Amino acid sequence: MALTELQERNERLFYKLLIDNVEELLPIVYTPTVGEACQKFGSIFRRPQGLYISLKEKGKVLEVLKNWPERTVQVIVVTDGERILGLGDLGCQGMGIPVGKLALYTALGGVRPSACLPVTIDVGTNNEQLLEDEFYIGLRQKRTRGKEYEDLLQEFMRAVKQNYGEKVLVQFEDFANHNAFELLSKFRTSHLVFNDDIQGTASVVLAGVVAALKLIGGSMSEHRFLFLGAGEAGTGIAELIALEISKKTKVPVEETRKKIWLVDSKGLIVRSRKDSLQHFKQPWAHEHEPVKDLLDAVKAIKPTVLIGSSGVGRTFTKEVIEAVSSFNEKPLILALSNPTSQSECTAEEAYTYSEGRAIFASGSPFDPVEYNGKVFIPGQSNNAYIFPGFGLGLVISGAIRVHDDMLLAASEALAGLVSEENFAQGLIYPPLSNIRKISAQIAANVAAKAYDLGVATRLPRPENLVKYAESCMYSPTYRNYR
Ligand code: NAD
Repeated sequence: MALTELQERNERLFYKLLIDNVEELLPIVYTPTVGEACQKFGSIFRRPQGLYISLKEKGKVLEVLKNWPERTVQVIVVTDGERILGLGDLGCQGMGIPVGKLALYTALGGVRPSACLPVTIDVGTNNEQLLEDEFYIGLRQKRTRGKEYEDLLQEFMRAVKQNYGEKVLVQFEDFANHNAFELLSKFRTSHLVFNDDIQGTASVVLAGVVAALKLIGGSMSEHRFLFLGAGEAGTGIAELIALEISKKTKVPVEETRKKIWLVDSKGLIVRSRKDSLQHFKQPWAHEHEPVKDLLDAVKAIKPTVLIGSSGVGRTFTKEVIEAVSSFNEKPLILALSNPTSQSECTAEEAYTYSEGRAIFASGSPFDPVEYNGKVFIPGQSNNAYIFPGFGLGLVISGAIRVHDDMLLAASEALAGLVSEENFAQGLIYPPLSNIRKISAQIAANVAAKAYDLGVATRLPRPENLVKYAESCMYSPTYRNYR
């Protein structure tokens, strides 16, 4: 709340503070505290920090957009609040997420604050507690689905393009998966859109896995991956890993997918379940007898990499971690679910139950852990590493569409920045304190890919894209007056 006040009172100082103390303040502006802020949003609400577009504005969305005082918006982060982190449906109170993500766009990616627009689409909530809360700030009705929902989203996307042009980036954030996959596939060919939960997460995890190969050995295609959670994050990561292996080995992606297994709330995803699966789970229905729970799946599949993306906390139990450690010298364990309460395990559990052998990273931060006299530093596997630089790359190249190859380019840049010193500490990501340099490198790689693919409109192509990216980044410095 104090930081929000500062952001409103002295924006430049807010960003200076955030940039200079990124490791300390990120857990407040972002996960895990942002989750708590969303849960209590109605009672801590002072002034709107973003634009609310509700069902009541249907037919007038363009007019509402025009009310926003800034004219040159480059990045919009939009949510409908239905799946806020692993906390479920928080309705209109999900606004904390677009606001927090855009603060990171500026602080970590250098996009000017005035070019950032947080939006929440209010179509109601199914959260009974909020509907009865006298401080709830949104529409007091159950979520609208079907045509009315689709029409409002369509109108919003049309209005965005009409008002800000072809090159404005729309980042979808924390939509429930039944809408998230639809929206992405519907608008990716007509708009510059990016789903952070599906694509940003995929890119950051791929980077972590590529970097981790130095510690766990082997090539990507030699590893077996098991996911707990087969939603936006899980299937998005799985698909990008399969694509990367396919590109590296020239084996078709239909084949490389077979290295990857997913467990959802009903057990291992296998061929016999295919007809009853949601479409995004179907490519992962491989031939195998049914397996009911994660522990049995670990024993059956014998993964070398275990990834948690179910939003359910404490699911990597002692038995699960011991099992995965029993057939791997160095198991790679990624507990991606946010906020901290939903993490599949703590860093301490990962190191203790694996007897100090696990290479571990998590979505929300954990403090270093001492085990058997040795200090282990857990890394943070969070899309905050990717989306600010990724978005910056799109903005500086004037890209008009997002392509999967750009996600691979972002991963490659991030993985390449892990130093020997980081590896020696067991880290698979570079420290967040260097994030602005990291973002510039990611932006340059993404922009280069946009030029190669012919979707960049800023011509001529700058010679040194890293320098160009750095020169475009907003810095909260005060001018000198004589
Ligand atoms: P989602 O709702 O799309 O997917 C959740 C999946 O988990 C679904 O397939 C569901 O069937 C499965 N599931 C639910 N309960 C389960 C259980 N008990 N056992 C096994 N599977 C179960 O959500 P999502 O967008 O994929 O996000 C999931 C989690 O990942 C959230 O906590 C989110 O905060 C986190 N996340 C982290 C990052 C990051 O950068 N670290 C990025 C995106 C999402």
